[in-house]
Amino acid sequence: MKRRYDMLVVGGGPGGAFAAKTAAEKGLSVCLVEKRPAIGTPVRCAEGIGKELLTDFLPPDPKWICTDIESAELVAPDGFSMLLEPSKAGNEIGYVLDRKVFDRELVWKAAEAGAETYVKARATAPIMRDGAVAGAVIEQHGKRYEIDADIVIAADGIESKFARWAGIDTTVPYRELETCAQYLMTGLDIDSTRTSFYLGNEVAPAGYLWIFPKGDGTANVGIGIGGGKSGNGHRAKDYLDRFIARRFPNGKTIELIIGGVSVCRPLPSTVADNMLIVGDAARISDPITGGGIYNAMYTGRLAGETAVTAIEAGDTSRDALMPYDTTWRASKMGKAIDRNYAIKEFFTKLNDEKLNSIVHSISKINLEHFSTLMLLKEIMKANPSLLLELRHLRSLL
Ligand SMILES: Cc1cc2nc3c(=O)[nH]c(=O)nc-3n(C[C@H](O)[C@H](O)[C@H](O)COP(=O)(O)OP(=O)(O)OC[C@H]3O[C@@H](n4cnc5c(N)ncnc54)[C@H](O)[C@@H]3O)c2cc1C
Repeated sequence: MKRRYDMLVVGGGPGGAFAAKTAAEKGLSVCLVEKRPAIGTPVRCAEGIGKELLTDFLPPDPKWICTDIESAELVAPDGFSMLLEPSKAGNEIGYVLDRKVFDRELVWKAAEAGAETYVKARATAPIMRDGAVAGAVIEQHGKRYEIDADIVIAADGIESKFARWAGIDTTVPYRELETCAQYLMTGLDIDSTRTSFYLGNEVAPAGYLWIFPKGDGTANVGIGIGGGKSGNGHRAKDYLDRFIARRFPNGKTIELIIGGVSVCRPLPSTVADNMLIVGDAARISDPITGGGIYNAMYTGRLAGETAVTAIEAGDTSRDALMPYDTTWRASKMGKAIDRNYAIKEFFTKLNDEKLNSIVHSISKINLEHFSTLMLLKEIMKANPSLLLELRHLRSLL
């Protein structure tokens, strides 16, 4: 490990990997540190991603694609199931990835582009000079290194301490931190081309439960519930165990993961002098689904590009890095986060009766020309009792 780089990346997830690859390709000296001993493990993800979103970044590779998803099922609290098929949705649905291989591949590509990559290397504090980030203290194999960098990318995921240490408030309100539990299961009798989402206050309060098939009767079966809903005897894992006992009594569990997903608004500012914050660390995940793989890759790449421009211009101040913040907020992804936050706030307050009536009405809509606005109009028509709440939501779209 050298003592100085143009750019230091803290975290080897999709956000950090794309930032490192992008900047290294453009000739910056880049160091990426990952605290875990192996990139991509343990997997704390259901591993689903939309096809179009993925191909924006790299061509699909069977090495890290487990299943090609052709339809999605939405199950209402009363058990009514609505199927969303490509013919109805007008596009292809998605993939379930193998993130152990996928994340490793992304960091591999960063290394091939010239970035130095270190595992079991943990950032333990920022180096601050004149109130601004100037590098980080890295601990690896019992040794302590002080690494200077013109720009540090905080890509340290949901636990994100780096930006906080550097003085930025990254707190996620407890209510907006979904607590998640997920089993990798085998021996399941499921359609391996279909994902399933279960809604309802008895099933997954202020969240949802998912089945994401991984082929050969295996699947990620997981749940996220609102932080405020969790407590003794009704934690995410308790809800999940009850569901599995009913739905997959003969399924076998291979892995259990526990994790958190933020469903709050992104940080008010994702830049500071000499620092850019990307992906989950910046709370840039989808407030409805909790999905953040695409968002991390998008912001990681953009942060890498912004760092190159700033370093070439010799100005890495907050103002010079601000185009990163304004660009992602104005992007399709940034706008979708705004809109989906409002929708999430609306949906998490609904009781089961209202959820049932919404899923029933969606099932009657011809989704060939799907848009959120059209969906809302149809739901309003079918649910006059929700008119007031929905009108408020519509004004936000
Ligand atoms: C249960 C669950 C299910 C999910 N399902 C989906 C899904 O189906 N689809 C989807 O798109 N998203 C999903 N997500 C979210 C998705 O996993 C994240 O949004 C995505 O991984 C964010 O990428 P990232 O690079 O920002 O952070 P991460 O992938 O979390 O990477 C951050 C990295 O930083 C490392 N790190 C942390 N601190 C330090 C430090 N001090 N020094 C060095 N390294 C450090 C961590 O070890 C980690 O490897 C899910 C999340 C959970 C918890």
